[in-house]
Amino acid sequence: MDPRRSGIGMTSARTRERLVQRLMEQGIKSPAVLDQIRNVPRHMFVDEALGTRAYEDTALPIGFGVTISQPYVVARMTEALIEGIPPRKILEVGTGCGYQTAVLSPLVSTIYSIERIGDLLTKTKARLRDLNIRNVQFRHGDGFKGWVAHAPYDAIIVAAASEVIPEALLKQLGPGGRLITPIGPEGRQELRRVVRRGDDFHTEMLGLVSFVPLLKGLG
Ligand code: SAH
Repeated sequence: MDPRRSGIGMTSARTRERLVQRLMEQGIKSPAVLDQIRNVPRHMFVDEALGTRAYEDTALPIGFGVTISQPYVVARMTEALIEGIPPRKILEVGTGCGYQTAVLSPLVSTIYSIERIGDLLTKTKARLRDLNIRNVQFRHGDGFKGWVAHAPYDAIIVAAASEVIPEALLKQLGPGGRLITPIGPEGRQELRRVVRRGDDFHTEMLGLVSFVPLLKGLG
């Protein structure tokens, strides 16, 4: 039997548990988030050749010049997103391979997810359907513009870095809504959480991160 499917070796419970332990040591506390890191089969989101590295706490290439995010960063962003009153309607910018989407899926009601690379999105849609993830609506589009038709959102999560926060995304945040995004030049960014209070926006720094850039237009 294919070891990728049978749960032996690199996909074993023990390998995944080691990753969960590591994230706990690094300060991830939410049991719901840690359960998702334990449950989501990250090896299904990367090429077979990289399967042995799927439960390392590192970003990995997924083709099209982009990466699957580091598990610690996915966990940290998810924790920051669901803290307090759990958000129901989410906008995700940068679907990529869908790993963040899969981690988030059971923790919220609906995810609207935008990706600029059409061929990548086609593969990701099929993968999430195979994993029986149903509460996601996808759009091939430019996340700089958000997705006006479904706004306002309780929360917005951005998986690629911009120099400044796109104005359209701030506008699409509902009252008390929060936006989690990396800000800064490629390879050296700050993760920020911005919370909307009326027309005021409160910003918190969540640490240093390294993301691919948020690019304009379609890929
Ligand atoms: N969320 C993914 C990480 C994806 S990497 C994970 O869980 O691993 C960032 C993704 O953002 C890439 O797929 C890239 O193509 C996409 N992206 C970059 N700029 C974008 C834009 N303006 N609109 C939508 N997606 C964008």
